[in-house]
Amino acid sequence: MEKKEMICIVCPVGCHMEVVRDGKSKDGYEVSGNQCLRGKVYGVKEMSNPTRVLTTTVKIREGKLPRLPVTTKGAIPKGMMMEAMKTINQVEVKAPVKVGRVIIKNLLNTGVDVVATRSMEEEARSQSQKVS
Ligand code: SF4
Repeated sequence: MEKKEMICIVCPVGCHMEVVRDGKSKDGYEVSGNQCLRGKVYGVKEMSNPTRVLTTTVKIREGKLPRLPVTTKGAIPKGMMMEAMKTINQVEVKAPVKVGRVIIKNLLNTGVDVVATRSMEEEARSQSQKVS
């Protein structure tokens, strides 16, 4: 019998739940320890298809900082995180970038885009570079 203990992360209460796969309930899982229905939905999803929003950075050329913060615009399957990071790590963008710009469209055919979570101006050039 597949069974997992988990803490619900939907709200700050953090209920300790137990989710057991069964053949009787409508959604195929018996959830206990949750104080509300959102916990049950979370528990079933964690067992059947866990997903996460991926937040990381990509390389940026000529930016004020060396890395640009990005995030997936929705949750992607947890099992795809390593592959997603490999793809994201191959990307290099050029400043300037505006917040919300799509950096990777349809990441790994998940239907989810990777977007910039902040704007990044170009690096200020030194006086000597501006003169020449
Ligand atoms: S089960 Fe409901 S009350 Fe408990 S942590 Fe999850 S969302 Fe919050």
